[in-house]
Amino acid sequence: MLQRISSPRQTKTWRQQLAEAVRDPAELLAMLGLPATALAEMLPAAQTFALRVPRSYITRMQKGDLADPLLRQVLPGAAELVEVPGFLTDPVGDLAATAGKGMLHKYAGRALVVATGACAVHCRYCFRRHYPYSQNSAAADQWQATLAYLRGNPTVNEVILSGGDPLTLSDAQLASFAASLDKISHIRRLRIHTRLPVVIPARVDEEMLAWIQHTRLPVVMVVHVNHANEINAEVRRALARLKLAGVTLLNQSVLLKGVNDDAGALADLSEALFNASVLPYYLHLLDPVQGAAHFDVAEGRARELFAALQRRLPGYLVPRMVRERAGAPAKGLVV
Ligand SMILES: *Cc1c(COP(=O)(O)O)cnc(C)c1O
Ligand code: SF4
Repeated sequence: MLQRISSPRQTKTWRQQLAEAVRDPAELLAMLGLPATALAEMLPAAQTFALRVPRSYITRMQKGDLADPLLRQVLPGAAELVEVPGFLTDPVGDLAATAGKGMLHKYAGRALVVATGACAVHCRYCFRRHYPYSQNSAAADQWQATLAYLRGNPTVNEVILSGGDPLTLSDAQLASFAASLDKISHIRRLRIHTRLPVVIPARVDEEMLAWIQHTRLPVVMVVHVNHANEINAEVRRALARLKLAGVTLLNQSVLLKGVNDDAGALADLSEALFNASVLPYYLHLLDPVQGAAHFDVAEGRARELFAALQRRLPGYLVPRMVRERAGAPAKGLVV
């Protein structure tokens, strides 16, 4: 038989890659050729919110660089344990907007379903890092409470699967949900907020494309990329398959100090997204979540960056810069 050398990354299923994500801070440092002296700083924060990063994503980081923009998004650090006034555990009023188990109905026409608490990657700045998922996840009861809510609310025409990351659920669970939504006549669109096609591109497989192509609902997928280095050839292939399946692809980013708070980095991100069939949608100012204050970019600086982007890019590559406001009827435009 012919000997073939193939990289393990290409042959592993997304489930295997999800299970084998790096959780040990020492292993992450070793993989990147970084000194183990950084460990002492990482461990207390990792005990509060665990380290989790898929190996495929780590291959896109620059070795030996603690300031790598992808590493900074996932690396636990002592700054997370500093309590800063105004940085809260529920910064966007999720709990006040909870309309039932795992259901956030804040905006007209759109209901957001917290499908699961699981994520493929743990982002240190995540605004739901303190969300009580165990009591509030929609897939846990086979979607029954969610579907009952949607059937009883004819004003809802778009269902947003969020989380956590809804694509950590099995395609059987997702297909069953999509099939039930198909039968609710006032539902017109299914939107999915996810990082998975980017952090583990193998997630976009035949099983997933099958239910996406089967539902009568147009599918909008909002991925979450913060830096152009996250997009490699494998990610472009995964996104191209989604596009071919008719999915509308948008991106949301968070403006993060030390990651993308630079006009050049943001312009490169928009260009890289376009080359991957994705249009920029939102650039979120950081939600003031406890433990993430060190990522905050002042609003004045954010406005300058936005103006610089407008000078450099066609309008359709400039994301809307927004801030989430608890209790408001829409995200607040910051311009
Ligand atoms: C962001 C968000 C949405 C979607 O808002 P769009 O402006 O339509 O993208 C819906 N529900 C909740 C609770 C949200 O936070
Ligand atoms: S919900 Fe999104 S931002 Fe938060 S940890 Fe999961 S993937 Fe990251």
